[in-house]
Amino acid sequence: MQIAIDGPASAGKSTVAKKLAHNLNYMYLDTGAMYRGVTLEFLKDDIDLTNEELISQKLKNINLTFETVDNQQHILINGVDKGQEIRSVAVTNLVSDVASIKQVREFLVAEQRRIAGKHNVVMDGRDIGTTVLPNAEVKVFMLASVEERAQRRLLDYQRSGEEISLSQIEKDIKSRDYKDQHRAISPLVKATDAVELDTTSLSIDEVVEKLKKIIEK
Ligand code: C5P
Repeated sequence: MQIAIDGPASAGKSTVAKKLAHNLNYMYLDTGAMYRGVTLEFLKDDIDLTNEELISQKLKNINLTFETVDNQQHILINGVDKGQEIRSVAVTNLVSDVASIKQVREFLVAEQRRIAGKHNVVMDGRDIGTTVLPNAEVKVFMLASVEERAQRRLLDYQRSGEEISLSQIEKDIKSRDYKDQHRAISPLVKATDAVELDTTSLSIDEVVEKLKKIIEK
């Protein structure tokens, strides 16, 4: 079974997708972490995002794998766990530009489909229901107000010790939403057959319960 959860930044997708996967004993795949991993590698090598040849070359040398430690999924880039580095402000502010590059999307979508072919999965991202797994049995499009999403992101940054203001986070989220919705390839849109779920005033457990009901239907 394939469960696709899409939606804009910080709508609560990964937290609930992780819980749901755990409850169902399915694999959870955080596709945003994959785009973030590639972005971190590009940043490290200061890759020119307009240089297609260099990008192809670089992608050939990136191997992404996953490891579960204490119930938390970690992404390994060429065997190395970069921890919270993939969630830094620098990566967050560049990731939507990297995610709009055709070769990057082709590389990661192929990888995501390969993984989904081998497991029951809960996969979250922006294009799972529309592009990666168009035949997924369950598709959910998760939303929340921009204010609520910025608050959630602020807590994440505070936990990892990064200093950034709420208003700056709101600005960054809006900019990322815009780029994700307006890119040429697989823009962020609700799949026609996805169920919309607004999480603004819901707790994590309430969202998980709603998802379970959607799955049972
Ligand atoms: O989900 P998260 O916020 O970690 O995703 C980071 C970025 O990766 C998104 O803003 C988007 O630009 C990109 N992304 C994507 N397609 C996906 C998952 C993430 O384009 N399936």
